[in-house]
Amino acid sequence: MAPRRKKIYEGKAKTLYEGPEPGTLVQYFKDDATAFNAQKKAVIEGKGVLNNRLSEYFMTGLTNIGVPNHFIKRLNMREQLIRQVEIVPLEVIVRNFAAGSIAKRLGLEEGTPLPRPIVEYSYKNDDLGDPLVPEEYIIAFGWANQQDLDDIVALALRVNDFLTGVFYAVGIKLIDFKIEVGRVWEGDFMRLLVADEISPDSCRLWDIKTGEKLDKDVFRRDLGNLTDAYTEVARRLGVMPTNTAQIKPTLIN
Ligand code: UDP
Repeated sequence: MAPRRKKIYEGKAKTLYEGPEPGTLVQYFKDDATAFNAQKKAVIEGKGVLNNRLSEYFMTGLTNIGVPNHFIKRLNMREQLIRQVEIVPLEVIVRNFAAGSIAKRLGLEEGTPLPRPIVEYSYKNDDLGDPLVPEEYIIAFGWANQQDLDDIVALALRVNDFLTGVFYAVGIKLIDFKIEVGRVWEGDFMRLLVADEISPDSCRLWDIKTGEKLDKDVFRRDLGNLTDAYTEVARRLGVMPTNTAQIKPTLIN
């Protein structure tokens, strides 16, 4: 069968296709999971369907509280229509509790509360393993200017407050997360939007009572079934069909 749309970009977990109108793209969520800079890989049935729905849920919530983002509408089980943006080549990470690389770097026990939310940046470059970079590098190399960075921090902290509350309401602690930011031009005016996706692939989510991990660390650290963990997140948020048969591969496309 001929592909319906022209492929613009293929990433590790998503593929972007040309959208129906100029300035739009179709974002397709794959079942592929990668970790440790793609050294560990697997296909996890149903993950793409869950992340499509979860990202829709969070982006719609952000729109409703006035946080600009790329989401326009969900098209089907695996695809959503988004605004085409120019991605700022940074992973913007917000941390509330120590885990992962900061825990390692500073010798902190995972789960240690941080004195305040910490925003940090990695330079998006797979060949280099997305190295942590200071603002000084970002400005010197022209990836973003000081005004952009002020806007990015403000966006990231609003997303943090929103997600923290949404997860807290369903018994989940938001340890940390990553967002990406994109630029759009409206006439001569440039605006920054939350782009990419917001899903358990890019957050650390711990059950408040038990500490059980409900995010991609389940895959990274071989802690169990990733689809079950994401389904639990979706179920608590009331996002997904309760019937998990609906995300079985035979029924999705
Ligand atoms: N993260 C991500 N993509 C990356 C790196 C990190 O989505 O390429 C997320 C990760 O899931 C976690 C947060 O950003 O929620 C902080 O990750 P950390 O720097 O601790 O890196 P990790 O130890 O996960 O490699």
